[in-house]
Amino acid sequence: MTRINGFIGRRHFLWLAGGSGLAVVATTVGGSLIAGTQETTIADVNPTNPNPANPQQALTRLLAGNQRFVERKPQYPNQSRKRLQAITQIQYPFATILGCADSRVPTEIIFDQGLGDLFVVRVAGNVASDTAIASLEYAASVLGSQLIVVLGHRRCGAVAAAMKNEPLPGKMGYLIEDIKPALAQVNLTSGKIEEAGVIANIQYQAEQLLKKSMILAKLVRLGKIKIVGAVYDIDTGKVSILTS
Ligand SMILES: [Zn+2]
Repeated sequence: MTRINGFIGRRHFLWLAGGSGLAVVATTVGGSLIAGTQETTIADVNPTNPNPANPQQALTRLLAGNQRFVERKPQYPNQSRKRLQAITQIQYPFATILGCADSRVPTEIIFDQGLGDLFVVRVAGNVASDTAIASLEYAASVLGSQLIVVLGHRRCGAVAAAMKNEPLPGKMGYLIEDIKPALAQVNLTSGKIEEAGVIANIQYQAEQLLKKSMILAKLVRLGKIKIVGAVYDIDTGKVSILTS
């Protein structure tokens, strides 16, 4: 079991990671919680991930896997029984993906990765909701994953629905409300409106990670993690990194 302590000001965190799960205990010492101390605390608990991956190496490894997928030469790495047994007690994913729930974009398949390789959060429209961010924070600050890829894709139904901006039944309206701000800058008179919307949404959701999460912003600032946007081409299977 890994035991890591972080202590800042009057707030005391104890993180217990490993075994069957994770326990996070926060206590105050002699008073109320002090706002703004959490980010420094988390920076202290970012653990060493034994995967041989800094953010750039992680990105290279992902793109190499995607290239194998595109060329129809997958290696199906880390899918053996031996691998299954090797990671029963702990996980060290080398990359984290915030992707769309679309059935045509199955993360481990399109990156040709295996068990324990990727920490994946999928929700329609790759929306950076609070709960999605919580999972990303866990991957980065507790599991030591050093790369976050916000992965959108062409012909995304969630983005298309947000562009139509019509009332939706049930809870679906909440989803497009989180996408609509991304579309404010999209030129609706251009010839590739749908593609522009997808790319704008990827960039917007990536920005939201830094705006909404002190933890992720701090880790980026320290160079411990990197956040990149990427788009998946449903026609070819290719993932392209977006440059900001
Ligand atoms: Zn989608």
